[in-house]
Amino acid sequence: MRLAADESLSAFRSELESWLDENLPAEGEMEKGRNSTADLPPWARAWQRRLFDAGWLVPGWPPELGGRDASPEELMAYFEILARREVPRSLNPQGLSIVAPSIVDWGTDEQRERYALATLRGEISWCIGMSEPDAGSDLASLSTRAELGGGPSGANFVVNGQKVWTSGAHDADYCLCFVRTDPGAPKHRGISALIIDMASAGITCRPLPELTDRDHADFDEVFFDDVVVPQENLVGDLNGGWKVSQGSLGHERSMLWIMNVTRVERTVAGLVRLASDGTGAGESAVTCDASYADAVASLAIDAQAMRCLGYRGLHRAAAGQAPPEHAILKLFASETERKACLLGMDALGPAGLDLDGPGPLRPSGAPAGGVPATLPGDFERGSWAVQYLRSFAGTIAGGTSEIQRNIIAERVLGLPRS
Ligand SMILES: Cc1cc2nc3c(=O)[nH]c(=O)nc-3n(C[C@H](O)[C@H](O)[C@H](O)COP(=O)(O)OP(=O)(O)OC[C@H]3O[C@@H](n4cnc5c(N)ncnc54)[C@H](O)[C@@H]3O)c2cc1C
Repeated sequence: MRLAADESLSAFRSELESWLDENLPAEGEMEKGRNSTADLPPWARAWQRRLFDAGWLVPGWPPELGGRDASPEELMAYFEILARREVPRSLNPQGLSIVAPSIVDWGTDEQRERYALATLRGEISWCIGMSEPDAGSDLASLSTRAELGGGPSGANFVVNGQKVWTSGAHDADYCLCFVRTDPGAPKHRGISALIIDMASAGITCRPLPELTDRDHADFDEVFFDDVVVPQENLVGDLNGGWKVSQGSLGHERSMLWIMNVTRVERTVAGLVRLASDGTGAGESAVTCDASYADAVASLAIDAQAMRCLGYRGLHRAAAGQAPPEHAILKLFASETERKACLLGMDALGPAGLDLDGPGPLRPSGAPAGGVPATLPGDFERGSWAVQYLRSFAGTIAGGTSEIQRNIIAERVLGLPRS
């Protein structure tokens, strides 16, 4: 595989760049912000719809699902351009990247039309109900129950239990919810996936305020109390929910590393800026002594190594193999991001604790309120202290670092299970 762009890849890039130049939402629109990862304000719905109609929302998918059958190399170019320009594809990432592909892979034709296509068109938003108070890393231990035989027709599921850390639940239209349908079966085999309308009677969302902003909540605790769910909302087979929970194997998921690596590169650039002339006034926020220079250089090398690892993984994915590089990258990128944010915060000394101070994307001297905290990509906008606290999220969501290390030890290195 050649990574240098050939003519057709260059043409693909130019077409996308020109389309973005002409179609991006106006800056004022994007700054209107959003409440949570399932809140789709009108501009975001319109933007997602524009992307979808032009075949730029899910370019790796077939045309009947709004794609353009892009090759892995084209998809990589697509994600690199979006990451560089900081363009969000959707303000409901869990709907676009997890729910829609899962319904396309496992759902019925009717579910594809009614839910997957409506999701892609930005008409509906989603949360994902996996984690519970006693089932996080060990998802298969989930205990929220769904029993068949309820509701007026007697042919519905009735759901009881609790989920937690459900991103955007208070704004979502639907939940892709994992429930226990056969308590007698071995734990992986008794789980089903249901589409639950979040407006159903018996659902209570209790938002959990964030560590970095007590007035803002994305996560919820979600309680289900005799919630009636039509049987046709089962995704995949009854008791076949484990497969659905393992996600789509589509190429798009294998491109997530591009966003993570780009974030690390930006953070490293922020560290360089801290020790350079951040304000343009001839002063740097941090003295660049040998130990700072050494730490920043080492993080820059890590970022380069990640990019090379990602390209090697892409090469393997394009050849139809499951690349171990991508499991390693989730761990490597999230831990490196955390280290980089800690370095920035530490280097500033007591000023590093200033929640309104500079950050990886906010040079020292820039007004704290210069960029609204609710912008898409807001996770990257706050001060070094805020970014350090937020960087822990990447080491937990989608599988904690400890679990990733277990996976690498067992599945990549072939070590025996401990
Ligand atoms: C930003 C963010 C968004 C999220 N969004 C959602 C969402 O939308 N929907 C949803 O369902 N969940 C969501 N989650 C929850 C996330 O999936 C869980 O937090 C994660 O799976 C870990 O589960 P837990 O918090 O219960 O921790 P636990 O599983 O209880 O783990 C606690 C600690 O023990 C360690 N540990 C556990 N098992 C092992 C083991 N076998 N070996 C070594 N160490 C172990 C873990 O690494 C961790 O350090 C989100 C989390 C974050 C941070």
